[in-house]
Amino acid sequence: MNLALLRSMLMLFAALSSGALAAQEAAEAAPVKRIALSFDDTPRFEGALYSDDERSIRLIAALHDGGVKQAAFFINPGRLSEKPGGKARIAAYVAAGHVIANHTFSHPQLRSMDTQEYVNDIARAAEWLNGRKGYRPWFRFPFLDEGGDDKEKRDAIRGALDRFQLRNGYVTIDASDWFFDAELSKAKRAGKPINMVALKELFVESHLGAAAAYDGIAMDTLGRSPAHIMLLHESDLTVLALPDLIQALKADGWEFITADEAYADPIAKEMPDVPFSQGTIIEMMAWERGMPAPRWYERNNTRIAGKLFRELVLNETSRPKE
Ligand SMILES: [Zn+2]
Repeated sequence: MNLALLRSMLMLFAALSSGALAAQEAAEAAPVKRIALSFDDTPRFEGALYSDDERSIRLIAALHDGGVKQAAFFINPGRLSEKPGGKARIAAYVAAGHVIANHTFSHPQLRSMDTQEYVNDIARAAEWLNGRKGYRPWFRFPFLDEGGDDKEKRDAIRGALDRFQLRNGYVTIDASDWFFDAELSKAKRAGKPINMVALKELFVESHLGAAAAYDGIAMDTLGRSPAHIMLLHESDLTVLALPDLIQALKADGWEFITADEAYADPIAKEMPDVPFSQGTIIEMMAWERGMPAPRWYERNNTRIAGKLFRELVLNETSRPKE
């Protein structure tokens, strides 16, 4: 197919789709698939592979070598009392060009905390973050829990974020990296033989799969590929697999953008109204617009991910007795 024909077909597609203008812009501004990275729970607790400092050094190097200029780190300042080196590590991320934002002070889950207490926890984190170099006024809900089925609570927190002039630091792509990291730690503690090559492959393949799945849901929902932001954690396995993940995403046609660019997408203004507010903004928008389930990546079901981990990484064929 020649380029002129391809271009006119893209224009026709743009004209036919619902978000005609946005889609036309997306079609004209190839490459189409754009992604930023984010790392939650910084500074994170001890992992199975690295010291805190080694983890940060490797993380900064992987982003640099992969050409990821600006990732977002979502901070829990309440963890700094247990992690005296945490402050210096956060400063190192900022010095390397990355940005920091609010993930509450102590990482509570909204559904199991009183609304006012939760607001106070956000405010405590804001106090630590405000005025700090690299700070962005974004709020990432711990556990991506925006209130579950409690709409009153959801709206109270949305109002509080508005008053704090904080914007929802939503995610569009999630492959439960925390789960694979936790399984690795468990297997290490149990002294099980671990196939690290298979684990890295499973991790990378799962995140590529999640990116494709959520982009597909977005295309079905919006008629365009939004600027994506992937959820990761500042954890050992994620850091170990990061160089491979970055390369694999590039090979799959993804272009890395900054977190600033990701949150400049029009979906940043969305406030999905769904029966249960939790998860990626893509799945909530798809639900709001009537897309039937499943609207998520299947490996976020830890039963499915756990089975893959046991079979591929631990070489266990049947479910172990617990
Ligand atoms: Zn978190």
